[in-house]
Amino acid sequence: MKIIKDVQAMKQISASEKSQGNKIGFVPTMGFLHAGHLSLVRESVCQTDCTVSSVFVNSAQFAPHEDFEDYPRDLQKDLDLLEEAGTDYAFIPKAKQMYPDGYKTYIEVHELQERLCGQTRPHFFQGVCTVVLKLFNIVAPDLAFFGQKDAQQSIILKRMVRDLDLDVQIEVLPIIRDKDGLALSSRNFCFNKRQRQAALCLSRSLRLAQKKITAGEIDAAQVLQTIRAEIEAEPQARIDYAEIVDTNDLLPRETIHKGDLIALAVFIGKVRLIDNLIVD
Ligand code: AMP
Repeated sequence: MKIIKDVQAMKQISASEKSQGNKIGFVPTMGFLHAGHLSLVRESVCQTDCTVSSVFVNSAQFAPHEDFEDYPRDLQKDLDLLEEAGTDYAFIPKAKQMYPDGYKTYIEVHELQERLCGQTRPHFFQGVCTVVLKLFNIVAPDLAFFGQKDAQQSIILKRMVRDLDLDVQIEVLPIIRDKDGLALSSRNFCFNKRQRQAALCLSRSLRLAQKKITAGEIDAAQVLQTIRAEIEAEPQARIDYAEIVDTNDLLPRETIHKGDLIALAVFIGKVRLIDNLIVD
């Protein structure tokens, strides 16, 4: 695995790979990698000729009061894991190169960026879309791999790719969970034992919701009540949002349809976790 820190060097490598007829797969991450990230790398290795994985904690998607400084980092371990999973190039750009002095250009996907996570994190998706478009321009991937864990992010990025006629195909892969159901997240490492136990209320509430829907419930309010009751029974949990939405516009549903997104954001202490389920 080669480690690339320079934007121009990465562009040259991508051009050279393409000139040899190689299909480039790309996995953007913020590091502190776990099996969820590595599932994306492995799929890229299967589907493409050359895999680029990036590690970049993107300041543009954090508000001043959020956890940019405290976001967990362990670059050496990340590099070992990326290599083990089959990455050909680890792209670790410097913040100064990604956002040079005087940086002024941002991408917005209107309306979709304001819903769900956008309600409490109004600048989040602008930051995500901006960095992902920049990374796409540098890496020039044929395929880019994202996790269903960040369902709204995948929906917004797909819209950005369509609206801006980008030549990249977005692949969305399933949520990887711990044995007890907790969706893997770099932020899980911030928990003590009690908080980690409390965090299980997210996946538990989603399982209960799916069970209720499978039993015939189609009233979104009823299902949301079940979800809320389950999470509110956990003293350490505070709901940011719990919604059932249409995946096309992310607007709330009154009646549940197959393929709808049940999305949650819940604070466990200071850590905000997300989880979701597509109605089967
Ligand atoms: P992050 O480093 O949190 O920005 O995540 C990088 C990529 O990994 C995103 O596409 C996430 O959706 C994906 N990802 C994060 N957690 C998981 C998980 N538990 N299962 C599958 N993909 C994940």
